[in-house]
Amino acid sequence: MGNSIEEKTSLKRSQGTYELPEITDDLSCPVCGKKTLKMSRTLYKLPDGDDIFILLLECNECNYRKTDMISMFTAFQPGEYRLCVDDGDLTHKIFRGATGNLDIEEIGVSIERGPAANFDFTNIEGILLKIEEKLKFFLETNPIDSIEWKNCNESIKRLRKCMAGEMVFNVVLKDTDGGSYITPTSADKMTFVSYKKKKDQPDKKNS
Ligand SMILES: [Zn+2]
Repeated sequence: MGNSIEEKTSLKRSQGTYELPEITDDLSCPVCGKKTLKMSRTLYKLPDGDDIFILLLECNECNYRKTDMISMFTAFQPGEYRLCVDDGDLTHKIFRGATGNLDIEEIGVSIERGPAANFDFTNIEGILLKIEEKLKFFLETNPIDSIEWKNCNESIKRLRKCMAGEMVFNVVLKDTDGGSYITPTSADKMTFVSYKKKKDQPDKKNS
């Protein structure tokens, strides 16, 4: 169907500027129906050179809030990124959109996004630090003689080995809506499986 987002934005990019037309119409809130919806649009420059266009919808009447993102350079695709960290390099960058779920099986931890989740741009070290914070909190607030505490304690030990580069681990980023991606420091560390190709292109012809 028509031009992809990528084609449209690369057109604007070639002229060197992004144009954000003024919004003059009153916008109705999809929840309470009042014309109190505010839309903010921001062009956010990521440190890896990509540009993300963030659309924020907010209603002051009923507190409805929604964030949408469009990547300018990277074509967001629904799929699964699998990054192997086998050399202690924690600088691979991760952009996690509102629907990106993260798994690290070797640690036994997954982070799922909630309905109001915002975006998150970080690297592997940032992800591991965040997980460590959550595990620490769990250990401090749960009974020390429970199975959960012991499992969590095991997870934190493994996590620290991963951080120290003493353990090989895989970061799996799954995004059914295609709002997330990993930029690896070297391409051979990562594989990407598109969810779209599996469904839409069962008999793809190569010409
Ligand atoms: Zn509202």
